[in-house]
Amino acid sequence: MLRSFIDVDPDSHFPIQNLPYGAFITDQGEIHLCTAIGDRVSDLFVLDEEGLFNGPELSGQMAFQDSSLNYFMSLGKAAWNEARSTLQSLLSADEPTLRDNEMLKDRVFFKQSEIQLVFPVEVGDYTDFYSSEQHARNVGAMFRDPENALLPNWKHLPVAYHGRASSIVMSGTDVHRPKGQILPDGGSSPKFSPTKRVDFELEVGFLAGPENTLGQPIPIDKAADHIFGLVLINDWSARDIQKWEYQPLGPFLAKNWATSVSPWVVTLQALEPFKTKAPRQDPSPLAYLNSDQRSAYDLQLDVHLKTAQMAQPYKICMSNYKNLYWSMEQQLAHHTVNGCNIRTGDLFGSGTISGDEKHSYGSMLELAWMGTDPIILPNGEERSYLEDGDEVIMSGFGQADGYRVGFGEVRGKVLPPYS
Ligand code: CA
Repeated sequence: MLRSFIDVDPDSHFPIQNLPYGAFITDQGEIHLCTAIGDRVSDLFVLDEEGLFNGPELSGQMAFQDSSLNYFMSLGKAAWNEARSTLQSLLSADEPTLRDNEMLKDRVFFKQSEIQLVFPVEVGDYTDFYSSEQHARNVGAMFRDPENALLPNWKHLPVAYHGRASSIVMSGTDVHRPKGQILPDGGSSPKFSPTKRVDFELEVGFLAGPENTLGQPIPIDKAADHIFGLVLINDWSARDIQKWEYQPLGPFLAKNWATSVSPWVVTLQALEPFKTKAPRQDPSPLAYLNSDQRSAYDLQLDVHLKTAQMAQPYKICMSNYKNLYWSMEQQLAHHTVNGCNIRTGDLFGSGTISGDEKHSYGSMLELAWMGTDPIILPNGEERSYLEDGDEVIMSGFGQADGYRVGFGEVRGKVLPPYS
């Protein structure tokens, strides 16, 4: 098994097999791209400046001397593979270039706990899908009709809406309870008030690499070439605002007040060992969505909740990325089939990822079944939705033999409304 000269704990999300991309603020106040290895980050700007990305794809490109990943993401798979093998080689226990150069190591490695990470991608557009069947069934049953929980189109196309990139925030950013129009239970006209139903949504999103030209769809069998990597997402939601506004055009202000992302972008290459069989689809989708190239990944996803009264976070959800009905490739093929062009850095959320079992539901709405079955916390507190001071902590990883590849965390606390 490949090992680094940097010690990595077996349950760390960041062994040499992962090498996710991030960015941090240097002592000089600059933004440098980085990768994670164990509890350290390694500064890619410095490695690039030293000429260590010297393969045919990246030599002279200065791809890691930008303050965002977007240029590197636009270069495509050959460059991504070369960067990964260069980094795995530089960080490996057998390679002396970095291992034995104390001066260079001083400039390259920093403790994650001592630096401030920033999101490494400039996200242009954000689309959120609705691709977990169990989630769609649960929400359909609660909001509309348990007998017809799935709308007729759901098994024929990956349903989505266009979100806002402007309100994407990184893990660690606290969010204010939004205000909006809410229809009181049994009432006929809305009131303006802070939402009483703040919720999280457990999602995984992918970030686009090379663009397609307007008018040129991405065929499903080429979709993976346009996918750079994945992040963990908390799609904060206000259920009472959502319920009143969502028909006929879908979610709007219930969703666009904050979307939290993990600081690390995990590449598809790093997730390769966790590929698993995609679920059977019945009915068969139309030809442009039908391919055996559909991928599913076995990634364990957890949500912990910590209220202001609790000393330790408590696990309230265990789900898995493989629970999705529609794959990333299908999402991208569908998104572009009308000629819509995607741009490098665009973010595509999976939709809430709920499994079949109750403990695997990926939102409070489902876990507490619209307030009818509140979550009981170990200290006796009850929750149907999030209260001010509650912190939501999501994490996700794939477990291989002897190492795990993960996203780290996406965390955020609910604060009182803006006054
Ligand atoms: Ca969502």
